Amino acid sequence: MDERERARRMQIRRAKRRRNVLIMKCIISLLTLIVVFLAVILIKDAVIPELKNHKNNKKPEAQQTVQQNDDGTETQTEAADSVDDMIAQADLLAAQYDYSGAIELLKSSSLYTGSQKMQDAAAGYETTRQSCTAYPLDQVTHVFFHTMIKDDAKAFDGDSKEAGYNQVMTTMSEFTKIMESMYEKGYVMVSLHDMCIVNQDGTVSQGEILLPPGKIPFVLSQDDVSYYHYMDGDGFAQKLIVDENGDVKNTYVEDDGSISVGDYDMVPWIDTFVKQHPDFSYHGHKGIIALTGYEGVLGYRTDEVYRTREAGRVTEYQQKFFDEHPDFDEAAWQNEVDQATAVANAMKAEGWEFASHTWGHIDPRKVGIDGVMKDTQRWLDNVATVVGSTDVIIFAFGADIGDWQPYTSDNPYFTYLKEKGFNIFCNVDSSKCWVQFGSNYMRQGRRNLDGYRMYYNPELVSDLFDVSSVWDNARPTPVPQM
Ligand SMILES: [Zn+2]
Repeated sequence: MDERERARRMQIRRAKRRRNVLIMKCIISLLTLIVVFLAVILIKDAVIPELKNHKNNKKPEAQQTVQQNDDGTETQTEAADSVDDMIAQADLLAAQYDYSGAIELLKSSSLYTGSQKMQDAAAGYETTRQSCTAYPLDQVTHVFFHTMIKDDAKAFDGDSKEAGYNQVMTTMSEFTKIMESMYEKGYVMVSLHDMCIVNQDGTVSQGEILLPPGKIPFVLSQDDVSYYHYMDGDGFAQKLIVDENGDVKNTYVEDDGSISVGDYDMVPWIDTFVKQHPDFSYHGHKGIIALTGYEGVLGYRTDEVYRTREAGRVTEYQQKFFDEHPDFDEAAWQNEVDQATAVANAMKAEGWEFASHTWGHIDPRKVGIDGVMKDTQRWLDNVATVVGSTDVIIFAFGADIGDWQPYTSDNPYFTYLKEKGFNIFCNVDSSKCWVQFGSNYMRQGRRNLDGYRMYYNPELVSDLFDVSSVWDNARPTPVPQM
């Protein structure tokens, strides 16, 4: 073998070795791929159902309970518990006349087909649902109040404000007796939005209120829940707050300066009453609060003037407030806005609604269309930003933007307010019910249940309560004439 031949053979061997290494590398790569592929399949099978189970754990499923526990009795108890829970939830819906909701809730449960108890409950709701009739909407009454007097002695103390309080306010003891009487007579709080449906094209059609025999729907509203400065020290609550349980309550400043928390006005009183008597509320709906904006809302100084202190806009009362609170700066104002928003959100979650009472408590036709435009913009900028938007306007002074005849498109006030999103308009009317449906709005008259009405026209409220058993003897008489 010569030198050249040896070199050639070595080259061949090296090439062979390189080829073998390459093949080995290929085999290793292929094996790695197979291992990874198998691992993915295994993890998928093992982990994903685990995740799915985790999600399902929110709603207890009878089958799952059986699988997870070897102990049979424990499994059965858990299932029974959730049946009872479901029925309790459905009972509450049914107590508030939402029978379809109650039936739907039970039927949506996987326990339904196996539970005779749930099927019986659903059958019971269906029987009551079939006994319901649509209440005539033109016979729905609407009653309203102002801020309640918590301490009679302070409101009726002979000062210059006493006459006004005596005429247009109601005391907590009177309000309590009025509501208890109405509840006993079968009255049920409904929303203005139960009475009508606002369609996407801006037209308004009639709603439907379905109630069992003996039940009577009514709308409840309250005006000026601002806890205005002028009421300080006169026996009214200070503000609305959200307490540590998430409930809306009032604060009240006692003589020694300490703060009490309780049901000192309409909103928390109704919340407590409905907890005990859920059937006083239709589908969980409560009253509607008509807010002005010029001194803030719900007891909070949220208006822009408390931030800007714009010359010419600060009133005497506001100047006194600034003098008493020298540290009230922009951060303090923001804090008021945040707290008022939290209260409004808690109220909405509890079934309350809000309406415009106009920003400056104006009589529209007295200030004219330009005045209404400026005022509405202020309401949208200072009140809607805190409590949310609304399509309800409850006019101040019981005023209106037209007479009793239907609103027409040549009424500039109506055209403007409709354009700004208002569909429901309320005035004050002494008749039991006054409801008007136009093609693109609903109007309703409201009855004042205050000192003036009770003293001079007890017969006008006899369908709701008996004045002689409601009247608060702390009221000075005669109630001054308007
Ligand atoms: Zn008012």
